Amino acid sequence: MFSAIYFESAVRDHPRTRAILRRYRDLPQIECGRYSEIFNRKSQNFRLQKENSALILARKHGRKVLPAPGGYGFDAAGSHYFSHMLNCIYDCRYCFLQGMYRSAHCVLFVNYEDFADAIERTLSHPKEHPKEHPKEDTHRKSCHSARSRRISSSALPMRSFGFAQDDRVGRQAQDNGVVAHLPTDAGEVAPDAGQVFYSGYDCDSLAFEPASGFAEYFVPWFAARPRAVLELRTKSTQIGGLLKQEPIQNCIIAMSFTTAAAAARWEHGVPAIEKRLAALGRLQEAGWPVALRFEPLLPDTSPDACRELFELVFSRLDSRWLHSVSIGLFRMPADYFRNTLRIYPDEALFARETRTRNGVTSLRHPHEEAWLRQIETALFRHIDPKNYYRCADGETDREN
Ligand code: SF4
Repeated sequence: MFSAIYFESAVRDHPRTRAILRRYRDLPQIECGRYSEIFNRKSQNFRLQKENSALILARKHGRKVLPAPGGYGFDAAGSHYFSHMLNCIYDCRYCFLQGMYRSAHCVLFVNYEDFADAIERTLSHPKEHPKEHPKEDTHRKSCHSARSRRISSSALPMRSFGFAQDDRVGRQAQDNGVVAHLPTDAGEVAPDAGQVFYSGYDCDSLAFEPASGFAEYFVPWFAARPRAVLELRTKSTQIGGLLKQEPIQNCIIAMSFTTAAAAARWEHGVPAIEKRLAALGRLQEAGWPVALRFEPLLPDTSPDACRELFELVFSRLDSRWLHSVSIGLFRMPADYFRNTLRIYPDEALFARETRTRNGVTSLRHPHEEAWLRQIETALFRHIDPKNYYRCADGETDREN
């Protein structure tokens, strides 16, 4: 998986560092100063390095919990994210990480306890967070995007959460059959609402779980704080650690899917759709809240291919017990998109018409709204639209 392990001197004696160094004892192990000396080095080639990436064990300094970009997630709560890892062991050609970082090495911040303290402080003082994401980064991967059509947390959990499930934050709107609770003030923390903490922005939450023990540490931590919600975003089948634990209703496992053709072509090293579904099915059976993220939806995806995917997914999962379902268009911050093009100038995926709006580049579909409606109609044969939200770069082009 890795070619070498670097570790900061500052974390040399941390129990997580020691356990990982023992686990990978056959790899070259190199002590270093700050991880940024390796990770941020100039003249690195992401594409080449991805073939031979290293793991860097480091301490996270500075802000550890950040406000989720506006429009992200569930409106009835304060939304935050935290990243215990930078980069991913998988290699999806559409991933924004390849345009974001110079390096393809993976960084694991081993000081989980400091992240937990930061989350605790956020829970105690939710209003001290700025409303805006510090980098104005309102358009990252998955539904890390601006302007999702979304529903409040009141409509999401089909099992009872520990936080108040009211929809005071929203006014109801009807659009394309989607009942959406639009926020009166994005980022506002509603009284009595739980707060959501997203993991999986800058990595895959579970892919490195056997070595990182991330969920093993954080699930019990969130179990003791039922008013806070943890969402693990993943394409991984590394669920053994979760299955060993009692399910908790404030930890959502959100799995991403694209159509079979897109997965085969663009998702390198990612577990097959069938395997992901089997993992999600086992989690659902064990009582874990699971969610589905159908994204990124690429413009050459046909509604028929989506129909097939939905048939497969909902033959394996019980839609009555899904936490939420979303569809997200392909989109990426414009500068990350430019960087990605530099790395893969000959990549067919990007060789099509693009649209850049509000600093976000998306791949255009000539009849976007009609196309999306067909896909949503196919989806709503399986789920209650109340459990659905759409993530896009903004308003899609209206056609009628
Ligand atoms: S699984 Fe997610 S984080 Fe990992 S490469 Fe694919 S899109 Fe990026």
